[in-house]
Amino acid sequence: MKFKPANKIQDLQYFGEFGGVNPSISDSSTYTFISAKTMADTFEGNTDGCHLYSRHTTPSNLYLGEALAAMEGTETANVSASGMGAITPVLLQLVGAGEHIVSSRTIYGGTYAFLKNFTPRLGIETTFVDITRLDVVEASITENTKVIYCESVSNPLLEVADIAGLSDLAKKYNLKLVVDNTFSPLSISPIKLGADVVIHSLTKFINGSSDTVGGVVCGTQEFINDLRNVNSGASMLLGSTMDSLRASSVLKNMRTLHLRMKQHSFNAAFLADKFEADGLKTVYPGLESHPSHQLFKSMMNTEYGFGGMLTIDTGSLEKANALMELMQEKNLGYLAVSLGFYKTLFSAPGSSTSSEIPEEEQKEMGLSNGLIRFSIGLDNDIARTYEIMKSCMKEVGVL
Ligand SMILES: *Cc1c(COP(=O)(O)O)cnc(C)c1O
Repeated sequence: MKFKPANKIQDLQYFGEFGGVNPSISDSSTYTFISAKTMADTFEGNTDGCHLYSRHTTPSNLYLGEALAAMEGTETANVSASGMGAITPVLLQLVGAGEHIVSSRTIYGGTYAFLKNFTPRLGIETTFVDITRLDVVEASITENTKVIYCESVSNPLLEVADIAGLSDLAKKYNLKLVVDNTFSPLSISPIKLGADVVIHSLTKFINGSSDTVGGVVCGTQEFINDLRNVNSGASMLLGSTMDSLRASSVLKNMRTLHLRMKQHSFNAAFLADKFEADGLKTVYPGLESHPSHQLFKSMMNTEYGFGGMLTIDTGSLEKANALMELMQEKNLGYLAVSLGFYKTLFSAPGSSTSSEIPEEEQKEMGLSNGLIRFSIGLDNDIARTYEIMKSCMKEVGVL
């Protein structure tokens, strides 16, 4: 049977304590216990439905986690203060000194910097690979490998991971497959394809209003319990906890995610088609010319489309910068990092979000200076947007 992630979210039902149609927000850092014994049991992690202290769990955070777990089809989820606050504890929970990670080389700049510069201090080594080549991934696995790490659709090159293929490798070598699904919420359901853990930066499409950072880890109850364990849990001990007020606000925004994703995808597909027809080097997973178009198609929940992210290559950083400044002046969007906003956002990743990656490595992976990454907005009239964009491109000599 087909997995229907948006239905799973919609089928949840909660009421506030006075019958409010939204759950009440828990405005407390600590919780009372009638019995001292229950408090002790809660410390041990043996009591369901009891809250101890808000770095551990809060009712508001659990509501949001439940909605995200429903979306990804996992037993449960743990929300965090940022996407990095979800990624770093997961990796530190699963991998220790002397152990090894095989990671895609085209990943979010912060994740790359964490694996490249930070975790070696803790004795954790990472091999960065072309994740689209399963033979290369397999050849990089050593007896110390614990995790295969990738993004379903990678930042910023929009490479697509063969999650089922990677999952087969993970099972063969007894590894965990951890997938960052930030670029493709609803479109791709990594757990259904065999991933063990799914992470999102809620900052992007899921919250969708660029007013906060947030993150989530979706996984088994056992793994989430491990992350939250008061004695050994990386989420609990590193302390990247989301605030309850914010969890409540993200949950409300999440209810329109399915509508927004459809519109982001519709608009991005429209522009990608036009740009490519105009002769621009355009990367979008929905284009037949994308090397992983068929793979994405085979994995996707069709109704949400190929997502809102696309890139074009303008040929040089100067042209990219001129175009972005002009597009902002014409109010087509904002020259800003991040993604998933109602306005189109654009940036040149080589000199911004992926600047953690050294220049030679950028070149090797095909990240050129003139690349512009677009997060296409919710424009009501994308044909009009296209006409204005095209005139900007002509003005700066990109077309
Ligand atoms: C933004 C982003 C992150 C980091 O999330 P924050 O909320 O900024 O900490 C991780 N992965 C991907 C793919 C992202 O786009």
